[in-house]
Parts: sequence; structure tokens; C-alpha cells
Amino acid sequence: MILIDDRFLPESEASVSYMDRGYYFGDGIYEVFRIYNGQLYEKPAHYERLIRTAREVKMRLPAPIETIDDRLTELLERSGVRNGILYVQITRGVAPRSHAFPPAETKPVLLAYCNELERPVGKMQSGISAITLPDIRWLRCDLKTLNLLGSVLAKQEAAEAGADDVILHRDGIVTECSASNLMIVKDGEVSTHPADHLILHGITRAVVLRLAEENGIPAHEIAFSLEALRQADEVFLTGTTMELFPIVTIDGVSVGGGQPGPVTRKLQAAFEKTIPI
Ligand code: PMP
Repeated sequence: MILIDDRFLPESEASVSYMDRGYYFGDGIYEVFRIYNGQLYEKPAHYERLIRTAREVKMRLPAPIETIDDRLTELLERSGVRNGILYVQITRGVAPRSHAFPPAETKPVLLAYCNELERPVGKMQSGISAITLPDIRWLRCDLKTLNLLGSVLAKQEAAEAGADDVILHRDGIVTECSASNLMIVKDGEVSTHPADHLILHGITRAVVLRLAEENGIPAHEIAFSLEALRQADEVFLTGTTMELFPIVTIDGVSVGGGQPGPVTRKLQAAFEKTIPI
């Protein structure tokens, strides 16, 4: 079941135009919601980010957010997915290829679907490996747009190196991972890059910072170096589909003895308690 604008279509009938600006230019925005027990997790935060991204790229939404919410809710119900993700993207619409915005009457195109996805508990427990790479993305990483080639190339480089993910840095300052935020723990204190234009303002990141505060774990939104990353006691990433993944190997060197650390585990446990039953 695919939602295109306001139509619910079987996958075999779902198609978009070759002149869609999302296809030509990556001229679109998106969100990925986590579905836990048939409910959208942190729904208002995702809508807020979608609205902000639309505003910042000067794109109008195809309908008021309440109408979009009604449609996505219906999609979720019709899909029958209980645990998984809901993907929604909105492009600037269909128009002949020309970089500047299309005529004002051009309708944005919305596409959404749900997929089953179990919680990746194996990797949450065992942790993953990562390599470090220069962050070659653009300077508005705070916007959740379709232009993901920087992340695609980084993730592919990790795959070719036999690693699970990538830790990105700009001139030695660690920003985030290819599709998640990064946190380090040193002497019991958490640090993560400030929510500026160089990282996506992750919703899981915000939840984890809140949980750190509630659990008496000092947390700092502060830029840190590759050197600090390598000296960290614990490293973990945060993201909608991953929740918290410990990173136990970086560039082939183990972190914290190659095991998920106590602060990471405490935050994982706290996160699990926020999941609706
Ligand atoms: N950074 C990037 C580059 C991402 O693509 C994502 C996942 N969309 C995140 C961080 C994590 O954000 P969230 O917790 O909202 O999934």
C-alpha cells in the first residue's frame, strides 16, 4: 500500500512522473517515523522537523499538517504494520527540468509507505564497527532533504571496508554518522555535536539527551575532535530505526574493550521504557 498525494494505491499501481523534481534535483524533503505497536513514536517532533525543513527550503506542503497527519494515520492503519517504519517524502512537484522553482501552481508530490522492521536488538547488544571519513556533505545538514549522495558515498565506503557505519568529521571535528547522530562518553559524561547546520537535529538524539538529564548523566552539546573520539570510554549512535547502537570498533581499533559500556546500556534501558506498549 502506497500513499501518493491523497490516493492509496497497491504497489503495482504506484508511480511518479519522470519530471518529478525529486528525481531530477533531489528537490524534496522527507521523514522516517518509527512505528512501535501500531503507533508513531515522537510524532509531533517529526512533524515539527518536516515543517521546519519545508520552510527552510521554501517548499509549501501539499496540505495542512493536520490533513497530512490524517492521511498518514490512515496509511498506517491500512498497512497493518505494528512494528516498523513510516517513510514520507514530499517533492517540489512535476515540471520541466529547470533549476529555479517551478510555477507557483505546481503541486508538491507526497509519497508515503510503511514497512515492517523489528527492533535491531542484536546490534543494540553487540555493537557495531565504524570507520572515520571526511564529511563532504553540504552546509545545511540540519535539513532532512533528499540530497543524500554524501551519505550514500560514505556508507558505501564503509561497506567496502567491511565496517557497519561511518563517523564523519569536518577538519577533525566529529559531526555525526551517515544516517544517525553520534555521542561519546568520557568519565561518565556524554558529549554530542551541537544542533547547528552541520548535523541533522535527530529526534532520537533529543530523546537521549532528555533521558541523560532524567538519569543524572551529565550531557553536553559541544563539538569534539577525532582525538577525543579515539580516547572516549564509550561511543554510540542514535537514530530512529537503530535507537542506540554502541560503536565498539573505530578504524579497526576497539573502543572501551570492544564491549558496550555502562552509560550506553543505561541509556538504552531508559530508551526502551519510552517505547509505547
Ligand atoms: N543524522 C542523519 C544524517 C540522519 O540521516 C538521521 C536519520 N534520519 C539522524 C541523524 C538521526 O535522526 P533521527 O533520530 O531523527 O532518526
